Amino acid sequence: MTFAELGLHPAILSAVTACGYTVPTPIQEQSIPLVLAGNDLIATAQTGTGKTAAFVLPALQLLTEKSVLTGKGPRVLVLAPTRELAGQVMESARNYGRGIRPRCGSLLGGMPYREQLRLLSAPVDIIVATPGRLVDHIERGSIRLDRLEMLVLDEADRMLDMGFSEDINKIISRAPVDRQTLMFTATMEGDVARLAEKMMRDPQRIQLAVSTSSHDLIEQRLHVTDNLNHKKELLDHLVRDVEVTRAIIFSATKRDADELSRELSKNGFPAAALHGDMTQMARNKTIDRMRRGGIRLLVATDVAARGLDVNGVSHVINFDLPRFAEDYVHRIGRTGRAGANGIAISFASAGERNYLERIERFIGKKLPELQIEGLEPKTSIRKPVGRSGAPRRSGPGGAPSGRFGKPGASRDAQAKPWAKATKPAGSAPRSTPRHEPVIEYRSRRPQA
Ligand code: AMP
Repeated sequence: MTFAELGLHPAILSAVTACGYTVPTPIQEQSIPLVLAGNDLIATAQTGTGKTAAFVLPALQLLTEKSVLTGKGPRVLVLAPTRELAGQVMESARNYGRGIRPRCGSLLGGMPYREQLRLLSAPVDIIVATPGRLVDHIERGSIRLDRLEMLVLDEADRMLDMGFSEDINKIISRAPVDRQTLMFTATMEGDVARLAEKMMRDPQRIQLAVSTSSHDLIEQRLHVTDNLNHKKELLDHLVRDVEVTRAIIFSATKRDADELSRELSKNGFPAAALHGDMTQMARNKTIDRMRRGGIRLLVATDVAARGLDVNGVSHVINFDLPRFAEDYVHRIGRTGRAGANGIAISFASAGERNYLERIERFIGKKLPELQIEGLEPKTSIRKPVGRSGAPRRSGPGGAPSGRFGKPGASRDAQAKPWAKATKPAGSAPRSTPRHEPVIEYRSRRPQA
């Protein structure tokens, strides 16, 4: 199928061609005709599938006809969970809309009101907003939604997860009932299904299989950890590897992101944090510094890293495992881009076993477990050997079976120089009994 066969306006078609797109992606092929026909739509699709164009293109088509209503409010409203994602949607609207030239802008939390009020002072076609800031504007009386023709919820599951449910309900209550509603979500579980039921009229459904094939170039590893301190020791060890040229380290909380980046900086690594408590300006500055090479280690939370687009990320390190398996896929997708190889390393303590199992179910494979000499875990995260899900064991004498192992090499033969070379300065050897290695590997020598 071609874009022309989808029935899009010539001005949109030429913009799409100018973007270098030749054929629609599956989500575009399936959803665009349904949306152009006026249906409500629920699409289960991940970032990277082309989902943005799947709603932006039909939204632009709608704008090729004049509104019958007078007023200043937007005709199309896109709600997005984060400023980064909203920024990407806005950019797409501008790119694909270059032949139509809609009046569009964004209403994002953490950004100055002045510009936003100026945007709203004249009739506007497309607004991309984070829910909280949009509700602020509704309550101030600076925006009305009575002219709204299309409402899009992008990454609806994430918005609910971030606690935007009440804001979304408020927004819906101000929108005309005869609007068209589109919802894009990674999952249709729980609250998302309830929200869809409440806000949509006889929606069409599209479910795109989760594809992790784009992650084939990413090597995934697991390190079992005993506690926070153990994680920090491992991190310190791993980031000394010269191969870690640019890494994103994911932490569960903003506080941890700050603390870790401070500790890494103190230890001499060019590191910085990226999280939702930072102003947009500070976030942009940090991302820019990373792009220019001034930051080697970026410690980020999921929310801040959504839509983060930095090339050349050699490693993604999950200091904490994400609660949602989809986040794992998003996180590791920050590396191994554009045909490059990437490495995704996950730490998991006993308390994160459920998350690990969820991730492994989702990606359909077990993460190979690796250990570092001198930093082995005292605990095991896998179910006991002999049952399904048991870890792979090395052969007698510790002959490693993993890609990093040297077949036949004895464990001791590898151990000493390695342990010496990689142990963080000043730390005492871990004197705990060692477990049989699952898969051993020798990392490269650390940076001097
Ligand atoms: P998204 O899932 O919307 O974040 O899009 C992922 C990437 O795919 C973006 O970089 C888009 O520019 C790109 N893209 C979207 N649609 C197409 C298409 N039909 N052909 C090629 N690339 C596309």
